[in-house]
Formats: sequence, structure tokens, C-alpha cells
Amino acid sequence: MIVTLKKQTPKTEINRLTGLFESRGLKIHFSEGDNYIVLGLVGDATQLSERDILANEWVSNVQRVGAPYKLANRMFHPDDTVVDVGGIKIGGHEKIAVIAGPCAVESEEAIIEAAKEVKEAGAELLRGGAYKPRTSPYSFQGLGYEGILDLAKAREITGLPVVTEIMSVDHLEEFAENVDLIQIGARNMQNFDLLKEVGKLKKPVLLKRGMSATIEEWIMAAEYIMASGNPNVIFCERGIRTFEKYTRNTLDLAVIPLLKEKTHLPVIIDPSHATGDWKLIEPVALAAIAAGADGLMIEVHPHPECALSDGAQSLKPAKFAELMKKARKVANAVGRDL
Ligand code: PEP
Ligand code: MN
Repeated sequence: MIVTLKKQTPKTEINRLTGLFESRGLKIHFSEGDNYIVLGLVGDATQLSERDILANEWVSNVQRVGAPYKLANRMFHPDDTVVDVGGIKIGGHEKIAVIAGPCAVESEEAIIEAAKEVKEAGAELLRGGAYKPRTSPYSFQGLGYEGILDLAKAREITGLPVVTEIMSVDHLEEFAENVDLIQIGARNMQNFDLLKEVGKLKKPVLLKRGMSATIEEWIMAAEYIMASGNPNVIFCERGIRTFEKYTRNTLDLAVIPLLKEKTHLPVIIDPSHATGDWKLIEPVALAAIAAGADGLMIEVHPHPECALSDGAQSLKPAKFAELMKKARKVANAVGRDL
């Protein structure tokens, strides 16, 4: 249930109401904007009567929340959430953030080279997988902890915050110490133990959509992280499985306005995994910005023909730099900066 209070409600009254709801066994999520104060009640609110609550002179509105997600719900937090990743803001109306880098960290020199190239082109965050979820056990599995340290080195040299995927709760400490934005990959979107543990960390989380996940299942995965105490969640659409074979996945662009209507969390698009084809990255990336995405995550590799994973869906740095120029124009056309 959402109880909206008048902006001028005295603190003592807010505390009294909060205490009253807590005494009924409900958890309170407090949110305050320029023009509103919202008390989001989590738990069994069927015991409460809307009419009784509305009898309070400071209450301007009472609404029951039908959706199973609460903390991620736009009703609980009417303003857009802006997630701060190592000083880079993701979400809100102004700026679009671009994350770029190779699919996998292949060596310290390689990730430093890629980091310098993507920074030069205007990317604000560096990606690179250290623990890789590969379909085949015979494919390159990533450098593991060494890869995490290589990313940290690339951050030290370029200043770019780093994004990398966690696959196991066993690695939480490495990520807590070295990673700015923890990626939950498509294959782990419903690994609930992992979601709960990254929720306890409080570090920003990039939550990719499961390849067959409905939008509601995806939002519920975000709810798991938030319910464990971490409000810093960013959605990343990376395409879903359909009957189509000409692309690796099918990009669901409608999720951008839809998630923004239903939740207050930032939404970014990964055109590399969504298409599987470097030639499709640019048009899809531009469309994503036009549709309101808060950011992009693009695979960029200085030598894609030799990449140890996903070379076919990686842009060369020069192509990435071209994309950035066009992306800036589209961003400006929809009233945002990049
Ligand atoms: C990745 O970003 O490297 C990755 C494995 O993506 P996804 O989980 O979307 O397949
Ligand atoms: Mn990849």
C-alpha cells in the first residue's frame, strides 16, 4: 500500500504514522521528492482500511499496490533513481552513460589497450568478463581473479570505473574489493542466493534480463536485490530467445518505456548480445537512445578477429568512436547529453 502525505506534514506526524504501521507488522519504505512524501508499506496491508487512513488530515492519497514488486515499483519512488557508479551517474533525465570493452579480459595488456581506446572514444565505464559463463566447457572460461586484478589495473591507468560479471557467491569478496558495478548475467538472473548476497553488498548491480524471462520475473529479480538492502540496481536488456535465427537474440526495445513506467530504476541496452552481429550494433544502439535508454553496454575489441569470446559482436575502436558521435546527436535530439 502507498500512503502519500502532504509535503508540509510535520516530522512528528510522519513518525507517528510510521510507528503505527510498523506496529501492524509492516515495513516502511520512505521516499521524499520535491513535491511529495511517500510511505510505501511492505507486508500484509489487507488489514488496513483506506478510508480510516484518509481520515488523517495530512494524508493526500492511499493506493493499494497490485503488482508483486514493491521497492522497485514506481509508486514507491515516483522520481527516477540515479545510481552512482564510481562517480558516473546512471539514470535520471540528463545524461546517457556508455559502458564499453571486450567480452572477456584476455590479459593485462589487452584490457589496458581496450580501456584506453574506449575512453578516447568517450566511454565512461569499462567492461570485461573475468568469470565467463560459456555454453561449452571447452571454450575460454576467463582469467578469474587475475582478470579482476587486470581490470583494477586498467581502472588505475584510465580512471574508468569497471563492470564485470559475478557467477558465484564464492567470489563476493573479490568483487566487493575491486569492482565498481557488479553484473548479474542473463544465466544467473534467477539465481536467488546470488541476488540476495549482492543485495547485502550495497554495491551497484547491473541486472541483465534472463534469456527467457518475462518483464515481471525480471523486476522480481531486482526486488530480491532491493529487499536485501541494496537500492542500486540497473536493468540491462540484452535480447530474449525467440524463433528468430538471423540474430543471436531478439531485442525487446519496448522494455525501456515499460520498465520506466513500472519502476524507477535505470535501464540500459546491450546491443552486442542482443544482436550477435557487429554490423547491427550501431542502428540498434541509436534506436535504444531514441527510445529513452539511460545507457548502452557495447562490446569493443581492438582485434575482434582474435578475440577469445564474442569477436563477431564486438566493434573495433574506430567503429565505436563513429557510433559515439552519432549516438551523441540522437541523445541531443531527445534532450539528453552523452
Ligand atoms: C556478457 O555481458 O558478457 C554476457 C555474458 O552477457 P549475457 O549474460 O547477457 O549473456
Ligand atoms: Mn560477450
